[in-house]
Amino acid sequence: MGIVSAEKFVKAARDGGYAIGGFNTNNLEWTQAILRAAEAKKTPVLIQTSMGAAKYMGGYKLCKLMIEELVESMGITVPVAIHLDHGDYDAAKKCIEVGYSSIMFDGSMLPIEENLAKAKELIPAAHAAGMSIECEVGSIGGSEDGIYGDGELAPVEDAKAMWALGPDFLAAGIGNIHGPYPANWSGLHLDHLQKLTDALPGAPLVLHGGSGIPDDQIKAAIKLGVAKVNVNTECQLAFCAELRNHVHEFDANEAEYMKEKLFDPRKLLKSAVDAIQASVEERIDCFGSANKA
Ligand SMILES: [Zn+2]
Repeated sequence: MGIVSAEKFVKAARDGGYAIGGFNTNNLEWTQAILRAAEAKKTPVLIQTSMGAAKYMGGYKLCKLMIEELVESMGITVPVAIHLDHGDYDAAKKCIEVGYSSIMFDGSMLPIEENLAKAKELIPAAHAAGMSIECEVGSIGGSEDGIYGDGELAPVEDAKAMWALGPDFLAAGIGNIHGPYPANWSGLHLDHLQKLTDALPGAPLVLHGGSGIPDDQIKAAIKLGVAKVNVNTECQLAFCAELRNHVHEFDANEAEYMKEKLFDPRKLLKSAVDAIQASVEERIDCFGSANKA
């Protein structure tokens, strides 16, 4: 099927009571692992680049071409969207220009009036380019500044005002946060999610910070209208854990491994990359999107 925009399969997930995974990529191997998992599970998928990851990899154009070429060379048959995760205004414009198939405009750090004004400009621009667009109200908490706290609850009125502008899916904070969850996290505010769903009937909602939320809470959120779940940290932790194991094994069997040339990066990273794939497949099962391609 190749590269597609995401609105059709995310809406189908909303209507069908399951969710599509939005998986962040960090490099070539990461992208291959996500694509292999999606193909094995026969699910539509969004491969996402944050602004930072895109910069790390060499820019949006390179990311777009890499994903596009891999979909072709790997013979991927499931629908794949190339999505910008948490883009600011300039990044959103850039990805429209470069030809991503989906973007997120995150204006949640701006005053709501400015967030709405910029979204009002970007939504028709994305649609005119044949792309889907995600917007956000009520910022999602995180640990980037070293201070752990509960995520913000998106005001229902803000969500309604944003949805009225016509984005394809909407990220709205319900106590979720990015990164590993702290021990004292109070859980998803499903009561607040219910209020959002009641106010926006049929709207596909996006759950950010999906790594580390207990599965029963994720499944409950999907029942209440979440149709896209973002995953990043979970795959990073799986990759890191397996890489550490492997390096310890290498140290313990150095003579043998050197003889077999296991220092070749393609061999050195293999088990850790397989761990990313396993992690993605496990999330797809949890979200219920297997065999929905
Ligand atoms: Zn996010």
